[in-house]
Amino acid sequence: MNFSIATQGHGDFINITDHVAAALKKAKIKDGVAVIFVSASTAALTALEFEDGLISDLKNIFEKIAPENFAYQHHQKWGDHNGAAHIWSALIGPDLSIPIEAGKLLLGTWHQIVLIDFDEKPRTREVIVKFIKA
Ligand code: ZN
Repeated sequence: MNFSIATQGHGDFINITDHVAAALKKAKIKDGVAVIFVSASTAALTALEFEDGLISDLKNIFEKIAPENFAYQHHQKWGDHNGAAHIWSALIGPDLSIPIEAGKLLLGTWHQIVLIDFDEKPRTREVIVKFIKA
């Protein structure tokens, strides 16, 4: 059960919880695990409280860890300028596993599934969702 998400890049945070919940409803899985994966090396998946202040804080931290404007060796390889995006993406990771009980994702009260696109330009991202029955 895959879906596509249009993104703006440069640290675009998109709440995809409703997409995953809709896919789970369709799959009619009561107990198991949802595996969610973004097939991109400059995007990532995480779970967090989807709130503007936290998103701004995370963007500031990402910039401190790996500044967007820096002479990354990766830029010499392909002539692109998304070295920081690859580093942020690698640190956060491309996937999430979420337990399912009674047909619901066992997320915390303020917990949302969030796709982050770090690339230097707008992209369309393919999100892959698989459900494993317990
Ligand atoms: Zn690149």
